[in-house]
Amino acid sequence: MKLPDFRYACPASLDEALQLLGDAGGSAKPLAGGQSLLPTLAFRLAAPGLLVDLRKIPGLDRIVVAKNGVQVGASVRWCEIERHEGLRTGHPLLHAAIRHVAHYQIRNRGTVGGSLAHADPAAELPGIAVTCEAQIELASPHGRRSVPAEKFFTGALSTLLNHDELIVAVRFPPWPALRRWGFEELSRRRGDFAIAGVAVFFDLDAAGRAANTHVGVIGAADRPFRLRAAEAQIDGTSVDAASIARAAAAAMDALDPQSDLHASGAYRRALVGTLLERTLAGALAGKGA
Ligand code: FAD
Repeated sequence: MKLPDFRYACPASLDEALQLLGDAGGSAKPLAGGQSLLPTLAFRLAAPGLLVDLRKIPGLDRIVVAKNGVQVGASVRWCEIERHEGLRTGHPLLHAAIRHVAHYQIRNRGTVGGSLAHADPAAELPGIAVTCEAQIELASPHGRRSVPAEKFFTGALSTLLNHDELIVAVRFPPWPALRRWGFEELSRRRGDFAIAGVAVFFDLDAAGRAANTHVGVIGAADRPFRLRAAEAQIDGTSVDAASIARAAAAAMDALDPQSDLHASGAYRRALVGTLLERTLAGALAGKGA
């Protein structure tokens, strides 16, 4: 790879990193795992004057599973999520979806913050964050703010991040132990970005009726999104074949996905309907992913 020229800094604290980004006035880029940024530089799609390496900043590499939810630091790598036993039960949907990210080598380097900032519409973590109503925690030289994931992603490869802001963590609401959930995606080869994917969860009341249904989709628009029309077909039902079929029909009515070299829009639309049927039926059976 022939990268453009840039200066390099490896700050030892968050404040120092934020100062460097602020002083650079938009000509600097944070560097995390480099799995998306370095190809971007190699293709000359970006040419920052300064790379600010985040790897020595303490405190961004923690996973906390607690009663009030799950917090994952920006520098946590995919492989650390995969190996985290607490997440397997503390947030099984997140844990399962991350196993679909890229290839082994990339999962050893790629990070949570890098994925959220890169904002690929087919990426798993942004989709799970939107589905689960996660909060993205941001820091800048002027202070901190917390943004709902659904507002954070503003288009393909685009977010609300300002040039002097860093993602420090993503925070998920608590995950009830008996929640039903599922995740399915289709990619041409294992490790490729998904053509499309679906995440679902719902809670069952004492009568076996679904409540709090959430359906999230990746790869079928310029950003991950909730399919509220499908959620409405599941809430209050016993998630039987009829309500699942109605949810899939509502999903396909609501979708108008893009065509690209991987799949036509019509194929993606049908794929989301099929994946939704599978995830809902699997979730009801307690299968997960
Ligand atoms: P980097 O490449 O270092 O940075 C990416 C962007 O985020 C840059 O703009 C950088 O400035 C910014 N950034 C990084 N950290 C922060 C931060 N804390 N705050 C603000 N901005 C920040 N991803 C998937 O989700 N699913 C896949 O199936 C998948 N397949 C892949 C296949 C291949 C062949 C490759 C090369 C990548 C694939 N990826 C996939 C992307 C991979 O997961 C990346 O690791 C990830 O998107 C970016 O993480 P990173 O830590 O490498 O970030």
